[in-house]
Amino acid sequence: MPMVFGNLNDNSGTGVAFTRDPATGEKKLMGEFLTNAQGEDVVAGVRTPMPIAQMEEKFPEAYAEFIDVCNKLEDHYRDMQDMEFTVENGKLYMLQCRNGKRTAQAALKIACDLVDEGMIDEKQAVLMIDPRNLDTLLHPQFDAKKLKAAVPMGKGLGASPGAACGKIVFSAEEAKAWAARKEKVVLVRLETSPEDIEGMKAAQGILTVRGGMTSHAAVVARGMGKCCVSGCGEIKMDEENKKFELAGKTFHEGDYISIDGSTGNIYDGVIPTVDASIAGEFGRIMAWADKYRRLQVRTNADTPRDAAKARELGAQGIGLTRTEHMFFEGDRIAAFREMICADTVEERVAALAKLEPMQQSDFEGIYEAMEGCPVTIRYLDPPLHEFVPTEEADIELLAKAQGKTVEDIKAIIASLHEFNPMMGHRGCRLAVTYPEIAEMQTRAVIKAALAVQARHPEWTMVPEIMIPLVGEVKELKYVKDVVVKAADAVLAEAGSDMKYKVGTMIEIPRAALTADEIAKEAEFFSFGTNDLTQMTFGFSRDDAGKFLGAYYEKKIYENDPFARVDQIGVGKLIKMAATLGRETRPDLHLGVCGEHGGDPSSVEFFHKVGLDYVSCSPFRVPIARLAAAQAAIKNEK
Ligand code: PEP
Ligand code: MG
Repeated sequence: MPMVFGNLNDNSGTGVAFTRDPATGEKKLMGEFLTNAQGEDVVAGVRTPMPIAQMEEKFPEAYAEFIDVCNKLEDHYRDMQDMEFTVENGKLYMLQCRNGKRTAQAALKIACDLVDEGMIDEKQAVLMIDPRNLDTLLHPQFDAKKLKAAVPMGKGLGASPGAACGKIVFSAEEAKAWAARKEKVVLVRLETSPEDIEGMKAAQGILTVRGGMTSHAAVVARGMGKCCVSGCGEIKMDEENKKFELAGKTFHEGDYISIDGSTGNIYDGVIPTVDASIAGEFGRIMAWADKYRRLQVRTNADTPRDAAKARELGAQGIGLTRTEHMFFEGDRIAAFREMICADTVEERVAALAKLEPMQQSDFEGIYEAMEGCPVTIRYLDPPLHEFVPTEEADIELLAKAQGKTVEDIKAIIASLHEFNPMMGHRGCRLAVTYPEIAEMQTRAVIKAALAVQARHPEWTMVPEIMIPLVGEVKELKYVKDVVVKAADAVLAEAGSDMKYKVGTMIEIPRAALTADEIAKEAEFFSFGTNDLTQMTFGFSRDDAGKFLGAYYEKKIYENDPFARVDQIGVGKLIKMAATLGRETRPDLHLGVCGEHGGDPSSVEFFHKVGLDYVSCSPFRVPIARLAAAQAAIKNEK
């Protein structure tokens, strides 16, 4: 190839340009040009280039030809081009072109414009958008200029996207108190537990030392659409003295910190954030996605507020309501603790009776927010010790309420201790030992559905009851019998012929292996891929972050299996369970409600194995809708 020289003389030059604005997507040539220079001079930033439009004055012929080339290249590649060129003695030479990188907003605008210009069709437009980038349109982000100048001082997992900036607080109570004083706070914890929910709500963002992509903090924050960086092991935490060390600096309560839940970066001090803005093109792309996808998209939501948000973002139902989250709020925790610490069935039933109306009203709120769309309520799942008090004052309070001594309560709490709670007394095992819990939850589900049905005759309420952590058909049958008896009693009393469904989660490998048996009792399966991943790999979803880094470094695993489904191993179980289940029950409804339901590559896998829906946290609903459409279009043939 002959070489051309942009730095030959003043009648030569070089430039870089985009056929459309890569920041906004606007259809106008964007770029820079330098006379008597070569490419490196533009990139190195030693000289200040002129805007591309000025090239027209200096090199009118080369500029006209360049515009012509731009149009040709766009026509050929049917996408926005990023080009480099040189002018030697007034003559234009093209050096290279490629599809230009762009912001999420620009991606949407360019895709829509290309459709309007007749360059691509709707399906191609849908395929052009990276679903992961939609996140940036839905959450606050750091001011791009300020971020450029900032250097991260640490890094955790980008567990829930968005950016947050605020004063450090170390407890949920402080978060609430400071937020009530209109202070913006970032809640920094070793890890979070369900007791922290109110504090998480009050904070701008959450930073944890421990925990992976499916840890409590990550899952709950994603549900709330709140920025979260989890598992930053570099932090040396001293919760007692309200301080931590990171990057050689000590941070105290009230110091400013900024965190980026998309990259996992942690910054010292203030980086201002800007609010999300959803432009009109977003809706157009989503409507096209909905036209071409086969998978339904539901949401994981535990509150009417999250449910309403998810509806707004296009959710077609709820695939998972984690009922345990409801037991932590306000005065419920007291009644729930009474239930746990009950000595007799009568005591337990009395405590549950206090909870029933509260659960019923929660469910009514969720049903209302979902406007008649299907709602799957998952029964109590976590081990009971998660709910017992840890503070002396709370223990005393409970003892008083129960008419027991502090020692009695402490002994009960000690008896609930488990070495491995994730594989302990949780899930349907709770309902097997304490059927009263499942009875109460069933009454609440059915009564709520009846009440909402009465208020909205135009909806057809069909409650879906989901039994978690099943590994053996007989345990499912046992709990199902409890559920059916309680449900039928409520319906009979109301004189209603309302239909309801009882299904299960497939989240224990044994359930997948015996799915043909399980399907005899289950009307639907929802793959709980968080637990299924945990139990298939045999490592804890909360602790794996500690060693997975070494696995990526050593190229043993490429991705976090809790974020992107392991298609080879866990995927084999899902495929097998889907096939076996449908052999028994051809109309078995299949979904997934683990965190993978919002991961684009996992969504493609779920499409291919023939699931009916994916369910994910509200802010990931648009991502899943787009990913589902892309899966359908890519696999059309
Ligand atoms: C799962 O295990 O995938 C699931 C959705 O349930 P949870 O995360 O509540 O255990
Ligand atoms: Mg689970």
